Amino acid sequence: MAFTLSGDDVCQITFPSPIPDPYWVAFSPSAANLIQLSVSQDGLPSDPSWLELLAGNSLSTGMHDFAKPISTVYSGHQFGVWAGQLGDGRAILLGEANGQEIQLKGAGKTLYSRMGDGRAVLRSSIREFLCSEAMNALGIPTTRALSVVGSALPVFREMMETAAVCARLAPSFIRVGHFEHFASTQSIVRLKELADLLIQDHYPECKNNVEPYLELFKHISVRNAKLVARWQSVGFCHGVLNSDNISALGLTMDYGPFGFLDHFEIDHICNHSDHGGRYAYHRQPQIMHWNMACLASAFLPLLELTHDESQAQSILREALEEFPVTYAQAWQSIFRQKLGLQTSQDSDIQLIERLLQAIHDSSVDFTSFFRQLSQVKLDHAIEKITLRDQFVDRVAIDQWFTDYLQRLTSESSQDITRMQAMNLVNPKYILRNHLAQAAIDKAQQHDFSEVTLLMNILSKPYDEQPEHEVYAAPPPADLERVAVSCSS
Ligand code: AMP
Ligand code: MG
Repeated sequence: MAFTLSGDDVCQITFPSPIPDPYWVAFSPSAANLIQLSVSQDGLPSDPSWLELLAGNSLSTGMHDFAKPISTVYSGHQFGVWAGQLGDGRAILLGEANGQEIQLKGAGKTLYSRMGDGRAVLRSSIREFLCSEAMNALGIPTTRALSVVGSALPVFREMMETAAVCARLAPSFIRVGHFEHFASTQSIVRLKELADLLIQDHYPECKNNVEPYLELFKHISVRNAKLVARWQSVGFCHGVLNSDNISALGLTMDYGPFGFLDHFEIDHICNHSDHGGRYAYHRQPQIMHWNMACLASAFLPLLELTHDESQAQSILREALEEFPVTYAQAWQSIFRQKLGLQTSQDSDIQLIERLLQAIHDSSVDFTSFFRQLSQVKLDHAIEKITLRDQFVDRVAIDQWFTDYLQRLTSESSQDITRMQAMNLVNPKYILRNHLAQAAIDKAQQHDFSEVTLLMNILSKPYDEQPEHEVYAAPPPADLERVAVSCSS
């Protein structure tokens, strides 16, 4: 397991602080399956001792004994500024089961809590739970969520709320911030241990390379470039892309004030505290690149083990330059698929960009548009394509549809096969803010049925689910801007 080799400059044994009268809010049988945890008919663990474990009230179940829970130290850049030492301020790693680390978020103070209370509120825990499981079902790399356990324990944010603990699973929770920490403290031994551990457990393909650390950097960078391309393709805005929230495994992690775009707004900012729009939708690729630059500078001492300083710098600079290329390739490939294109032509980029500009200009719902685009037939007269009714500038969109149909014809596209392929990449169901909020509102009244229902609907995002059609619809106008508080 991560960090067990190291000393107290790396992690600290930290026992969760119990919560009174814990109750189940949400549980994911699919995540349970990852750790081979058996689940009863009611969708909860067969072994009832898991409630106390996942509440942070006990450290053992019939099967497991997590005797040495830990919290780890990391540092990072927040909103582009070096923030110094941070760490797991409210996350405690219980241990590992079946290759997955089990981490409790909101289980009380740790050595790294600084001014924080170590807790998380019910609202943000439900959002993290639903989004982790929804992202996984979309096929986008993410940390998983096993459960949310609630308690009446009061927690003060902008107002009094109640506590919850979200249990997360991941093969590793190592972040860019872990590397930055040991680079900043010039702990080269720790830095090397961390890189070796990642190679050993998660990037074995780097092991026999002549430059294993450079190769590791490149692999992490590629995974994160591809990850952002996937986010852009489903309209996901992370909200807080600080370097301490960036996974060394290329997983989406640390869900906070995230949001999926409803109507397409290229410069949408989902985080209400992000006044400058640093983490706006269209900036995410550039910001991830910036985070990889932070990682590259943390990797410098590792490259300097075998190169002189200026050589090491230029090698890493060159590796960093691959990021935009990898990202662009991934983005183009996904958006071609979203349009149902099987071949690749240079002019496709312009076709995609013209469409995004048009749906931005007319504030068209991003998810529904792409889903419905699969229903366009090659022999359709442009005036029959009902999607065009959503656009203000009909001349421009008609021209776009004319070019699109021509492009499809040029590769002898077949309506049925195209529709099937497009429906595998254009989800029908995403975690829209107003849906999450409705589930939270009910949960705050102790009705958790909507959380489970949403989890189930979002577990099949690419399927038609006629009985749940209403969950695919864009929000009613009055709910379009559900406020998401950043305090969590
Ligand atoms: P975040 O913005 O959620 O990624 O958090 C940034 C840092 O603040 C991390 O080190 C967190 O562990 C820490 N943190 C956030 N909320 C709390 C809290 N309620 N108690 C203690 N630490 C927290
Ligand atoms: Mg964080």
